[in-house]
Amino acid sequence: MADDTIRCDACPVLCYIKPGRTGSCDRYGNRDGQLVRLDPHVMLEQAQARGESLVPFLGKSEEWDGSLVRDGQTFVTAIGAGTTYPDYKPAPFIISSEVAGVDMVTVVTEGIFSYCGVKLKIDTDRHLGAECNTVRSQGEAVGHVTTGEYGSQMLSLGGVRHLTGGSRHEGTATCDTLMNLCNGKAVELEIENGAKVVVQADKPPIVDGNQEERMRVGCGSATIGMFAKQWFGKVDEVVVVDDHITGVLSEHQAGKLLGVPETGIKMKGRRSTPGRYFKVAEPGTSWGGTNISDPLSILAPFDPKVARVGLRLLMVSTTGEQFAYFELDEALRPVEQELPAVLRESVVRIRENCEPALCTVLFMGGAGGSLRAGVTENPVKLTHSVRDALTRVTCGGAPVYVWPGGGITIMVDVSRMPENAFGYVPTPALVAPIEFTMKLSDYATLGGYMDHVRTLSSIQQEDDGRRRVTPRADNPWPLRKAGASE
Ligand code: SF4
Repeated sequence: MADDTIRCDACPVLCYIKPGRTGSCDRYGNRDGQLVRLDPHVMLEQAQARGESLVPFLGKSEEWDGSLVRDGQTFVTAIGAGTTYPDYKPAPFIISSEVAGVDMVTVVTEGIFSYCGVKLKIDTDRHLGAECNTVRSQGEAVGHVTTGEYGSQMLSLGGVRHLTGGSRHEGTATCDTLMNLCNGKAVELEIENGAKVVVQADKPPIVDGNQEERMRVGCGSATIGMFAKQWFGKVDEVVVVDDHITGVLSEHQAGKLLGVPETGIKMKGRRSTPGRYFKVAEPGTSWGGTNISDPLSILAPFDPKVARVGLRLLMVSTTGEQFAYFELDEALRPVEQELPAVLRESVVRIRENCEPALCTVLFMGGAGGSLRAGVTENPVKLTHSVRDALTRVTCGGAPVYVWPGGGITIMVDVSRMPENAFGYVPTPALVAPIEFTMKLSDYATLGGYMDHVRTLSSIQQEDDGRRRVTPRADNPWPLRKAGASE
């Protein structure tokens, strides 16, 4: 254009960008009349490629050939690589390499994901909100509470309905929330008729202003099973309070096997099997994820035919955070006493066995039309190749789980990816890196863009401003041989 304004065609927004300015997403800018991707392009380099300490310890067959960068030890990620849009353009980088004598190719692109979201695992016993209740961020509905797991509450955030099916604000707030979570930032979420929770990948959740420290050792029944032997002989009855399955030692199979005598205890709630009770209270943020602050509120009067004066009772939560010790008085009523030293150890042991409470953020997305068309002219062949395990999918070099069934629906733990790997476009949609690695011959067979294949050294020569990072030590190397352990 006459005044050097250029039009970005990397997403459907098609921004006009004046010289020295950026487009709406801040990912692209006009530098001297050229459209440039502004964030640095990220490459992973194994320690060997960086000339670090691993080189002298390589096996004989792996002797260092003296070159600074060896094929197969540098991986070009899609972070900052640019986007394929409209659909028919080849991916921005299609890089060849040789891995253990085999010619490989990695197709690298930042995908624009309209169909994507986050599965959020929050390690806490506390009740955050009922299943299906709406989760809000910035006042907008961005997801819902989904099925709880063992020791964790689960939220499902984002998805195409929140991104595109509501108001503009809802879409923008959803996109913002997903991007912040995926980039490792803290986000405050409010659950309808439930808690306010601050979540951040790989960090403890903060529930209603209180930082969670530990996840449960097990359900109430499992806790009885694990610690029955340690309680045997030191106390007559133990109740492990749990919103889901409250355990009672004398009735539980573990207590029966040890020969724990009946105590005449009577529980409220619904007896499922011996020593296992459901719904002893309502869900909440107190003892074992219930709403009770007084543990005696879940007991009915003791059976006078069985109970006896002086009977010793320990009540404890599934994390060991709450506990109380009682002895029965003349009227067979539990009276709180100080916890004896012999029982203190078992409560501490429960706490010791609880793992640190963390939030886990899994990005989930579907690699759709435009993305697959950037890899091959015959997109369904890429889907088949992924399903047949001929093509390995990574996100920023991190391993992904590919859902079985149709399409390429992936999940990745964002904490295994390099930092700030995600972006957005204002359509709104999330921008996430994705790489497809396969044998060069397989790439040709599935109709790949063979005339766009470049060597790694060709992009290294044109340097650059690229950012080189060392991969996480526990991530499998994305260029390992096909069939090597995932
Ligand atoms: S929003 Fe970003 S990617 Fe989309 S056209 Fe504008 S600058 Fe380009």
